[in-house]
Amino acid sequence: MTTHQPFWLAGRPATSHACLDVTSPWDGRLVGRVAVPTESQVEEAVAAAHAVRGPLAATPAHVRAAALDHVCRRLAERTEEIARLISAENGKPIKWARGEVGRAVSVFRLAAEEARRFNGGETQRLDTDAGGVGRLALTRRFPKGAVLGIAPFNFPLNLCVHKVAPAIAVGAPIILKPAPATPLSALVLGELLAETELPAGAFSVLPVPNDRMPALVKDERLPVISFTGSDTVGYAIQASVPTKHCTLELGGNAAAVVLGDWSSAADLDWAASRIATFANYQGGQSCIAVQRVIADTSVYDRLVARVVAAVEAQGTGDPLDDETDVGPLVSEDAAKRVESWVNEAVNAGAQLLTGGERDAATYAPTVLEGLPTGVTLACEEVFGPVLTLHKVNGTDEAFATVNDSKFGLQAGVFTHDVHTAFRAHRELEVGGVIVGDVPSYRADQMPYGGVKQSGVGREGVRFAMDDYTYERVMVLTGI
Ligand code: NAD
Repeated sequence: MTTHQPFWLAGRPATSHACLDVTSPWDGRLVGRVAVPTESQVEEAVAAAHAVRGPLAATPAHVRAAALDHVCRRLAERTEEIARLISAENGKPIKWARGEVGRAVSVFRLAAEEARRFNGGETQRLDTDAGGVGRLALTRRFPKGAVLGIAPFNFPLNLCVHKVAPAIAVGAPIILKPAPATPLSALVLGELLAETELPAGAFSVLPVPNDRMPALVKDERLPVISFTGSDTVGYAIQASVPTKHCTLELGGNAAAVVLGDWSSAADLDWAASRIATFANYQGGQSCIAVQRVIADTSVYDRLVARVVAAVEAQGTGDPLDDETDVGPLVSEDAAKRVESWVNEAVNAGAQLLTGGERDAATYAPTVLEGLPTGVTLACEEVFGPVLTLHKVNGTDEAFATVNDSKFGLQAGVFTHDVHTAFRAHRELEVGGVIVGDVPSYRADQMPYGGVKQSGVGREGVRFAMDDYTYERVMVLTGI
């Protein structure tokens, strides 16, 4: 498939002379050729979004909900085709790509439901002071204005959907900027939105090159930026627009903690299988993939044997093969970076328990223990299929080890003890604590986001809707 695909400009397809080639990280074949918008086309999209912000905010909830329902239905109908596209452009194994489309379907369903009930208002009595007698305050939430959504490559459909669906739900126009490696599934999303009754200007999908993004980021007509990607780019964006609302969904080095009471053979089998799967799904290219396993000394050895066996059972290969668990990383350069971090750790004294090999863009699922402090792998997000194992003595040390990170996205805690579960919830410096499972669990009705260097603001449909809107108060006098 080598057609020169249009992008979406204010709800209609548009093309230009410049184009972006999209290649498969698995075999390098060309999977798509996408038109790149000119500066005047970007200006047209921004002007249209700005102009439609009032009319779109005034659109009845049932119209917005119907548009969201439509996209939900159409995504479900086209699941297999879109999953194959995600797999081709991103290298994601097809079974995970199907799951990604399923997630997108449920995000649109949730957003349609929230659009019907979203109000966010309350009334407040003001006669608590003499000056307020005869007055009443009421609040409602209104969109802050047009949203600029910037998405990364690793969930090329769903992370776009996390920005688009809540924007439509609240009646905010959105300009979506997909990752350069993976624009094709975002363009299908544009196609489905164009089938709805949303007014022109309500959405654009613009594959703008990175070097032209600073101008778009600074455009005053886009007061909300919803960014998912690396901390380097996210914080640079935030610093460049201090007066704008920025939601930043950034990286992590998520930990799975296995405590001493999680000790039966069945417990450890379950933990090992979940850890192995969610260290390696998407080739480890998920912000909540398990990177660190922090296990109590009483269960450590039995857990390690199981984790290594479960990781070795993860099959690498062609992402379009139904049996493949782990596909290539997004590029050969990405795999070389992971390889260099593992080599650095091994040269500094870490023990390689399995993996450690690279074949082009595919990096073998890898497990290390004895990681020396200070190596890159101990401090940074690996964003590859690499697990590091840490032996600790008791809950205090386990939780301190989780918190000994500049990141704080989610943590998983394997315990049966309800008091320990509540303690984890109180003490772990993360946006979400998953008890009895890995940190990689996410459902889109929940708030999702990080603390520390993992970002600010929250996604999850209703929480993004809050972020895209603000409360405006009205005071009624003489009542
Ligand atoms: P990235 O930061 O390189 O790119 C993200 C997006 O920003 C892309 O669309 C890119 O084109 C764009 N971009 C690049 N330079 C820009 C600039 N100067 N101005 C504006 N936009 C610019 O990230 P990536 O490599 O695509 O994705 C991987 C990262 O995303 C990882 O760190 C991962 O943890 C993070 N991530 C976070 C979440 C989350 O929800 N917290 C989810 C998925 C991925």
